Amino acid sequence: MDYDVAIFGLGGMGSAVAAHVAQRGLRVAGFERFALAHDLGASAGRTRIIRKAYFEDAAYVPLLERAYTLWRELEESSQTALLDLFGVLMVGQPDSTTIRGMSNAALQYAIPVEYLDNGQLGARYPQFALEAGEVGIYEPNAGVVFPERAIAAHLNLARNHGAHLYDRARVRSYEATRDGIRIHFEGGEAVEAARVAVCAGPWTSDLLPQLALPLRVQRNVQYWFATQSGSAGPAELPAFFLERETLPAPLYAIPDLGDGLKVAFHGYGETTAPDQLDREVHAGEAELMRETLAALMPDARPTLRSTKACMYTMTPDANFAIGRDPHNRNVVIACGFSGHGFKFVPVIGEIVTRILLDEDPQFDIGFLRLERLSGT
Ligand SMILES: Cc1cc2nc3c(=O)[nH]c(=O)nc-3n(C[C@H](O)[C@H](O)[C@H](O)COP(=O)(O)OP(=O)(O)OC[C@H]3O[C@@H](n4cnc5c(N)ncnc54)[C@H](O)[C@@H]3O)c2cc1C
Repeated sequence: MDYDVAIFGLGGMGSAVAAHVAQRGLRVAGFERFALAHDLGASAGRTRIIRKAYFEDAAYVPLLERAYTLWRELEESSQTALLDLFGVLMVGQPDSTTIRGMSNAALQYAIPVEYLDNGQLGARYPQFALEAGEVGIYEPNAGVVFPERAIAAHLNLARNHGAHLYDRARVRSYEATRDGIRIHFEGGEAVEAARVAVCAGPWTSDLLPQLALPLRVQRNVQYWFATQSGSAGPAELPAFFLERETLPAPLYAIPDLGDGLKVAFHGYGETTAPDQLDREVHAGEAELMRETLAALMPDARPTLRSTKACMYTMTPDANFAIGRDPHNRNVVIACGFSGHGFKFVPVIGEIVTRILLDEDPQFDIGFLRLERLSGT
């Protein structure tokens, strides 16, 4: 047996699994099909929002509590700033999914938030052209995590604990042997591991066609805009998320941290095969975003600076999917992070490690179980 644990994919989740398993003193190998810390997967784009009063489902809050702790521990051990908590503001009608869901999670878990009625919202953030009736909920202990730095920190931690990390090592397939799993690579020799974690992000279905998982990969574009000074820095504006019926999808933004105000629609884009992702951002879609932003923040006068196309891997209910391969209990799969997984990266690393080692995951993750997806 070459390794105790092998990890397929070293993006957001795989790098965290590698770090957590390696810290247990096991023989670990991580295999990444591209360069380490590449920008072709789901985790690239300089910032990812992190927040706790989780409108999507309050059941995520215990995982978020743990994720915050683990992010701070990783900052400490890597001596790297990974979080910037300048606050997050949700805006919508009082009965919108976002406002109702966030308020419910905040109440249920006593998460400090501030409720702003339409007048208070407009007074505090005069940048916004609000619609009648729109309200806000501000969460101060929220902000962003820096994904490229986070992945580098987890990979370094894994390496420092003896993990072997291989770039340009594309896993083709795997099969059960008497004691473990034989792993085959594109154009390489096979190796054997006792346990495997599959963290292949948008490429999960390519790697596991036999499971016919109902995952849909969606193209999502991130835009950075230069704005008039004094309107969009973290001193003037928190990160925000706006649910509005007239928008094609909810709009979110991250204040200008030096490279422009970052904006994107949440879950708006065509379905794609990951290797066929259209990485070019076209003039028409950039103009739609510029017009949307200019209408919301008229004084900002945005001009486009840069763009990046990325991928969401959607499950039918937009909840993550974690569990064992139904045909091989030594293989644990973590996929379908549905465009909201990055903030959870370290806690997913910890949970997948516990499942791999036959330990209790220590969280109620029933709502995330892989088996709920049809076809498994
Ligand atoms: C535009 C955008 C904005 C987002 N915003 C947020 C946000 O604000 N907050 C938040 O929490 N989340 C956000 N997310 C979601 C979050 O970024 C993802 O959920 C998370 O990055 C998924 O990580 P992953 O490890 O599953 O995928 P990835 O990071 O893509 O990792 C998968 C890795 O597996 C490798 N791989 C695939 N197949 C193989 C193979 N056969 N052999 C070896 N290696 C392989 C890939 O090369 C890749 O490195 C956003 C996502 C996008 C696209």
